[in-house]
Amino acid sequence: MGTMDLQDGAQVRRIAVLGCTGSIGRDALDLAIRHPDRLRVVTLACNRDVDGLLEAAERFRPEAVAAADPWAAGVLASRLDGSGIRVVSVVEAAAWPTVDVTLVAIAGVAGLRPAMAAVETGKRLALANKESLVAAGAALLRLAHRSGSEILPVDSEHAGLFAALQGVRRGSLRRLWLTASGGPLRGSSAADVAAATPERALRHPTWPGMGRRITVDTATLLNKGLEVIEAHHLFDAGEHAIGVVVHPQSVVHAIVELADGSLLMQASRPDMRLPIAFALAYPDRWAPPEPAIPPTGLPDLQFQPPDREAFPCLDLAYAALRAGGTAPAVLNGADEVAVARFLAGEFPLGHIPRLLEAVLGQHKGGAEEPELDEALAADAWARERAAAWRPAAIARGASR
Ligand code: MG
Repeated sequence: MGTMDLQDGAQVRRIAVLGCTGSIGRDALDLAIRHPDRLRVVTLACNRDVDGLLEAAERFRPEAVAAADPWAAGVLASRLDGSGIRVVSVVEAAAWPTVDVTLVAIAGVAGLRPAMAAVETGKRLALANKESLVAAGAALLRLAHRSGSEILPVDSEHAGLFAALQGVRRGSLRRLWLTASGGPLRGSSAADVAAATPERALRHPTWPGMGRRITVDTATLLNKGLEVIEAHHLFDAGEHAIGVVVHPQSVVHAIVELADGSLLMQASRPDMRLPIAFALAYPDRWAPPEPAIPPTGLPDLQFQPPDREAFPCLDLAYAALRAGGTAPAVLNGADEVAVARFLAGEFPLGHIPRLLEAVLGQHKGGAEEPELDEALAADAWARERAAAWRPAAIARGASR
């Protein structure tokens, strides 16, 4: 509910950039440099990249900064002593009184409390943190309903759906489609995918420069599964109303299928600055950082059904959505540990879905619509189980 200035006719949006040293955060700061008349950076937060945050602080002169890591927060306090820039907690930076839009681009469950704080104080939440919706979507939406806060997705597929759904009546909707690039292992056999090493899984064809966990999640398609759960919360759609289609060019981000058979597609260059700008500017639209792709410049567009045998994580996510309660929080928490173990060389890619299935199988329901604390407890439980998981002895004769 912060106030918006009028400056030369442009609305200045005062933004909090949480996770400012990650890839989404840096993209957001790039937009702030391109649109100095429209965006003012008021608070910044990082996890522990103090140098990255201080560099941004020098450029944008925010009112307050934060670091999630206590050691990093201590360094910030001493380096900014006497600068007039306050060092606060990440939650305070999220809910800072003069902020209009809080971008939560913090990775992992650490993003939950700041996202809740922004929504509780009625700010627009530009949400790039998947966990907030996957683990605690119902609680976050209840809070937004109460405070009147808007939640705008920064994920390219959800931003695309949000845009394509403008003016569409609920009764005219048939299905929401999320597109998936298919990741670096698209087209590989199930055995090949299962045997993939970190080196192969990290080579993303159309979205380079993403974080390591999300890149591995695109290789297993779990990322798309988590996005199905996100879409369920954001658009109040059941599992049968959300489909996934593999689209290797990553130009069409979302498809809205209408009752009369029309398909509304949202297409743009695969550049995360576009969905970030959409979430910050909505309902306005700003000129893109790179020239737009004209219709004549579109590549040949292909759409294929996902290979559910080679990528079982997709159906595990649908199963977690169906189970409801804290199952999605468990899936996400277990996956974060599974990916870390995979990247550490402990096992090949195919063990990730096996681990997830095992942990989900041990999990007992939980609350129907978990509150934040229940979601966090389920996440912690899942991490413990995922860390303790050992692959069962390989069936006799299956390995040589
Ligand atoms: Mg996405």
